[in-house]
Amino acid sequence: MTPDQTPDILLIRQTRPDVAERLAARFRLHRLDDAPDRDAVLSAIGPRIRGLAVGAMCPIDAALFDRLPHLEIVSSFGVGYDTIDVGAAARRGIVVTHTPDVLSDEVADLALGLLLAAVRRIPQGDRYLRAGHWRAASFPLTASLRERRVGILGLGRIGQAIATRLEGFGVGIAYHGRTPRAEVSYAYHDSLIGLAQAVDVLIVAAPGGPETRGIVDAAVLAALGPEGIVVNIARGSVIDEAALIEALRAGTIHAAGLDVFENEPQVPDALIALENTVLLPHVGSGSHHTRTAMGRLLTDNLVSWFEGDGPLTPVPETPWSRAR
Ligand code: NAP
Repeated sequence: MTPDQTPDILLIRQTRPDVAERLAARFRLHRLDDAPDRDAVLSAIGPRIRGLAVGAMCPIDAALFDRLPHLEIVSSFGVGYDTIDVGAAARRGIVVTHTPDVLSDEVADLALGLLLAAVRRIPQGDRYLRAGHWRAASFPLTASLRERRVGILGLGRIGQAIATRLEGFGVGIAYHGRTPRAEVSYAYHDSLIGLAQAVDVLIVAAPGGPETRGIVDAAVLAALGPEGIVVNIARGSVIDEAALIEALRAGTIHAAGLDVFENEPQVPDALIALENTVLLPHVGSGSHHTRTAMGRLLTDNLVSWFEGDGPLTPVPETPWSRAR
């Protein structure tokens, strides 16, 4: 690329300095976040922009694409892309990339952490000790992971990494997705309610979006039963949050460990007030190690695209390898 061919890239809600530095070394970089007048910035530079670098959970819609007539690629930080209108991107020939695989182990580790924390009440025990209650009485006995069957909703990259870890815990493993996986021997259920009836732990690892909105509903929670544990490391939208709160409050299920919520960063007071929840602020991939790897893959996708080598990790809806 000669200097006058250097592509213009727009950074949106991507705050990692290492990402901005790597992009600035290769591209003409513009930022939308710190612009006092976003509209004016888009009017001035929109027609020059050929690539977007966007942060996790960043809404990207057709109205933005209208302002960027020469956009070729959206490189997104994170594996989930339910906040990006990929249909609109596909219709315009824009490739969308994400950061799969490099975060699967990290998120799976956290899912197991949430499961153990919810079953054995680890944060509650910590609070009990710090409050000085131990001097007066032992911490109450808890539920157990022993003799449980764990169901995974969405046996994809992260779901499989969770299953691999669960094998070491000696629990039964079953799963539901739209298609059975020939390469695994875990029990497949062709319906979510069927899975919930067969297990007493449900780990949600399916993508967000209209297709999965609220599929973990009151009926699924009831099927899980009073010993039931729900862990969600996927998207808050997959669970009907009001139904979950009611199930936790009424004892329809036993406990929940949640990393994601319907309306982040707002978390319902009702969920916070419950003693049988373990709540985390969407930190599944949030380690220095993994966020650095994600940032590198985000920039590598842009570099590879503009060097003519195609995207490294496009989403399935935009599989093309050249600008259309
Ligand atoms: P993936 O490899 O695409 O796996 C998704 C799985 O969900 C697939 O097995 C898919 O199987 C299943 N699925 C898709 N649509 C479904 C539906 N309508 N009903 C039932 N199952 C369905 O994705 P991944 O890399 O494992 O990531 C999974 C999700 O985790 C991401 O989309 C993201 O939202 C979330 N995530 C959260 C964090 C965090 O920080 N907490 C970090 C990374 C990712 P079938 O195609 O057979 O249905």
